[in-house]
Amino acid sequence: MEILYPKYYKKFSCIAAACPDSCCQEWDVDVDPESAQYYRSLQGPLGDRLRQVLQDTEDGTVMVIEDRRCPMWRQDGLCQIQAELGHQALCQVCREFPRLRHDYGDFMELGLELSCPEAARLILSDEDRDWIAETTAESGEAEYDSETMASLLRSRREFSAFLDTTSLSVPEILTVLLLYAHDVQEELDGGATAVLQPTQNLADGILFAKQSHSVPLQEFFLGLEILTPRWEQRLQQPSATPDWNGQYKLLLRYFISRYWLQAVSDYDLLCRVKLMIAACILIGHLGGNLQETSQLFSKEIENNPDNVEAILDGAYTASALTDLNLLGLLLN
Ligand code: SF4
Repeated sequence: MEILYPKYYKKFSCIAAACPDSCCQEWDVDVDPESAQYYRSLQGPLGDRLRQVLQDTEDGTVMVIEDRRCPMWRQDGLCQIQAELGHQALCQVCREFPRLRHDYGDFMELGLELSCPEAARLILSDEDRDWIAETTAESGEAEYDSETMASLLRSRREFSAFLDTTSLSVPEILTVLLLYAHDVQEELDGGATAVLQPTQNLADGILFAKQSHSVPLQEFFLGLEILTPRWEQRLQQPSATPDWNGQYKLLLRYFISRYWLQAVSDYDLLCRVKLMIAACILIGHLGGNLQETSQLFSKEIENNPDNVEAILDGAYTASALTDLNLLGLLLN
């Protein structure tokens, strides 16, 4: 099986006590059934504590946070389970975070989640953006429609090559992306093969763009589930003028690697591209340090499947996410 991952993937190492926003706070931890059973079987004070903090819900077992922190987080910043039983005793989510795995049956793509500050630092640093391909002895069957996957792989490759070499500004690149995504969507729906035409795509975008304001976009995100007060405060702040520096191309590259091929599951690329574009625009308008703002965005949005679903649905229904509004925000 072929396994692909960005060069920075293997460089990741948790910075633990130096982390500015630990993954051990603010989230309830989903505990896989095997770990939950093991934790409940433990003897002594650790087992007693785990039996106390594990809760069964209709979606599975969770470790419920107390005072906005994981109850197993010790005062010295270490995890009590890891300290007493070792890394392998962690439940699956804690063992794997922030590693992402997209398994398509006969090939797999790995990545890191932007919601971890250390991963965000690696994702948004330019030096390790190349991809590595490894072949393992394992083999698997393709779990997708091969024609759809071929279209998605080709179009992603085409757009990524453009992203690597273009001298267009970030808003212009996002405009080309939106128009190109319409063409790729048409291809997925049975139409002609999409051809990336940056000059034409940009001219079309300029033609359609209307005067827009970022307030409806911020209000749309305020209507989603909110985890932390600081995210709510950021969304309520007046919009900043985006500083569209080159780091946004790295951010876009991350979104493309995370979402483009997922369209193979439901043949819908356009709503995912709108998610990427809305994310870049929102992060730009929230201002502040790009790494910190995009990490918070990811923690609030990408790590909450309900929020991701609401954006994918909203791509076709929410006025803040119409093509005209997005183009207006990019080009005016
Ligand atoms: S968010 Fe990342 S760096 Fe911070 S504690 Fe968790 S894994 Fe480590």
